[in-house]
Amino acid sequence: MKLKCQRCGYEWDYKGKSRWYTSCPKCKTSVKIKEIHFTDIEIGYIAGLIDGEGTFIMGKHKKSIQPVIRIGNCNFDVIYWLQEKLGGSIIERKADRFRAPQLLWQFHVSNGMLKLLEKIKPHLIIKKKHAELFIQYLKLHKQGTLPTKEELKIVEELKKLNKRPSYKFYGEKHPTLQKVDEKTKKYLIGKP
Ligand SMILES: [Zn+2]
Repeated sequence: MKLKCQRCGYEWDYKGKSRWYTSCPKCKTSVKIKEIHFTDIEIGYIAGLIDGEGTFIMGKHKKSIQPVIRIGNCNFDVIYWLQEKLGGSIIERKADRFRAPQLLWQFHVSNGMLKLLEKIKPHLIIKKKHAELFIQYLKLHKQGTLPTKEELKIVEELKKLNKRPSYKFYGEKHPTLQKVDEKTKKYLIGKP
């Protein structure tokens, strides 16, 4: 199978056994093997899962930023299904006093994050803004460089969005808040 490194442009005939990605023989950057392909129904299902259960994290690694989408679930089948469909890695979270054992699925930039986000974005309701910020970041950022000022601004905005419920993030302007009574509105926004 012919592969091409996005970073250094090297092309070679891949004969290994990995299903999702391998590293460039020249510069060691990870290179995707399998192209994402799903049916429209699968895209809808994945969008629903990410909208409801997904967390959008700008992970810090030394000075660089690693955008990650995470889903944790006690149902292992759904996590293995996600990996089967999309790649990504799985981490085990042991049970404790409060929680059953969980599997944590992590989806990274190298798994084709931009492509996936663009496909699912039209179907997102809860996490649309999160996805938009990720897309903005991914389009601006050059792999292997430190984040620019503009990129760090996006990272900060996402942090704020993750910190509080989106109603508080948007404030009075949130369209849903125009449709509820004063008492509910106060409850959703909370005290500043
Ligand atoms: Zn390379």
